[in-house]
Amino acid sequence: MIYLDNNATTLVEKRVLDKMNLYHSEHYGNPNAVHSLGITAARTMEESRRKIAGLLDCLPAEIYFTSSATEAINWAIRSSVHFRGNRRKIVISSIEHKAVTNTVKDLSNTSGISYKEIRAGKGGIVSVEDMLSAVDDDTFMVCLMAVNNVLGTIQPYEELGKALADRDVFYLTDAVQTIGKIPFSARTSAYDFATFSAHKFHGPKGAGILYIKSGTKRRPFITGGGQESGMRSGTQDVPGIVGMAEAMEIAVGELKNAVPRIGKLRERMANPIRDLGGVINTDLGNSIANTINISFPKIKGEVLANALSESGVCVATSSACSARSENSQRLLESAGIDHDTASGAIRISMSKFTTVEEVETFIEILSNVVRVLQIC
Ligand code: PLP
Repeated sequence: MIYLDNNATTLVEKRVLDKMNLYHSEHYGNPNAVHSLGITAARTMEESRRKIAGLLDCLPAEIYFTSSATEAINWAIRSSVHFRGNRRKIVISSIEHKAVTNTVKDLSNTSGISYKEIRAGKGGIVSVEDMLSAVDDDTFMVCLMAVNNVLGTIQPYEELGKALADRDVFYLTDAVQTIGKIPFSARTSAYDFATFSAHKFHGPKGAGILYIKSGTKRRPFITGGGQESGMRSGTQDVPGIVGMAEAMEIAVGELKNAVPRIGKLRERMANPIRDLGGVINTDLGNSIANTINISFPKIKGEVLANALSESGVCVATSSACSARSENSQRLLESAGIDHDTASGAIRISMSKFTTVEEVETFIEILSNVVRVLQIC
């Protein structure tokens, strides 16, 4: 099998698994318990928080553990609604993950919130000016993702944060696709909230992070036993947290070497794809190195992805969390890609484990599959 769907999820590193196993089988205490097993678990959890804070360039107290980035996004947005006063509007980009779009849609149906979606421009990049022009006295929150998961495009999220720094609005950046791909520092811009998910960087599923800048108004998301400084109750998933910290440390540490190597693999794919008549939807000059979104005229993305799957290659037609929905198509069209090209799109996303041999075999399989489908 050749796995090229790493923006959906990644293989958990052996080093990460080994570390996690210890906290399942030996140091399995509840981190909120007073006995020695609990104290060991709590100590390790706080070490993990410090490690993550160091890697994200923030304070440990600014890191909250959640079950996923989707939860973290829900928390950031729903908490901010509480502090909106008379203001009603949230400004988002048209290429946000469904965790953002469906949350603001739900709020617009239930809580009198309105939202304004700013369309991405050419190449799937959102304009800071367009986002800012929608921010008015009625606006209490702005959301712009750091890196788009479908196209891989890097958004001007730092620039937007700087421009919003002295505006009285909450600013959320969904930074899920940054770790191990581009550097992320909580200090480079004025983020109130940033979200992360361990399974996107060779960590476990079910472990996420909400960064909340000190001083930002926030409400508890889950009430109960008062864990996570009273903000997110529920016994913490210590093995998941330990695994997430380990995976983040490895991913950030390897970024400098891994990214150029993966970039070369992407370059290796680009020409054969063009030679086959393929269209490259990703702006290769402004995207994370592991991602290339492509279309072949007159071939549906789902048909191509299924045919590749039958030949042992895993690629995506859409964001995995919303597979078989129209999300990817809608997103690509909102980024100026025409309807037919968008309906033919597949996303190839590599990882540091992707090899030259796999890329060459993939190109061979793709050529055969595309030729067969073009005849059909
Ligand atoms: N945001 C982006 C950009 C993503 O790619 C994803 C996952 O596909 C999410 C949010 C949701 O992450 P999680 O799976 O942790 O809920």
